[in-house]
Amino acid sequence: MGGREEEEGGEEYLFKIVLIGESAVGKSNLLSRFARNEFDNNSKATIGVEFQTQVVEIDGKEIKAQIWDTAGQERFRAVTSAYYRGAVGALIVYDITRRSSFDSIKRWLDELSTVARMVVGNKCDLENIRDVSVEEGKSLAEEEDLFFMETSALESTNVQTAFEVVIREIYNNVC
Ligand code: GDP
Ligand code: MG
Repeated sequence: MGGREEEEGGEEYLFKIVLIGESAVGKSNLLSRFARNEFDNNSKATIGVEFQTQVVEIDGKEIKAQIWDTAGQERFRAVTSAYYRGAVGALIVYDITRRSSFDSIKRWLDELSTVARMVVGNKCDLENIRDVSVEEGKSLAEEEDLFFMETSALESTNVQTAFEVVIREIYNNVC
């Protein structure tokens, strides 16, 4: 667990953020890249509910982002309400090389009423086998009033930024 203890006199902020999206889109690797700067090619399906806490500083305030990774329950409706409970942010992830993972985004959105939501098109390093254009990602996000970003957990592209945009949006809305 990465969370530091509260400093004397300081306020404490804890934001629960959930990762959502089909199996194998790269959720666990986005989290390990963000939290530990690690990438794992053979990451096995996550077992049990897992989260990691990452401390981020905004406007001089220490914010603990508690990021939850699905427990291999990616099948739609298999994610339990406990997973979403108390979440203030969400990254809804698809794989830019697999259209089916993009098509399922809207169903996930219906389940979510968090303060900040970002659609993430992961694996943007695989340009040569791209199946969903940047424009399609952008227009879905515009329709649904969400943030949008393409990332690569493999090459570390936009991973930090994606999480930070969500964290800042939560901060701006609830603090
Ligand atoms: P999850 O099931 O959504 O948690 O997906 P994982 O993080 O386990 O990743 C599934 C597979 O995609 C693994 O083989 C990863 O190595 C691979 N992967 C994840 N992110 C990327 C990425 O940004 N680029 C590429 N090329 N592969 C990735
Ligand atoms: Mg996983």
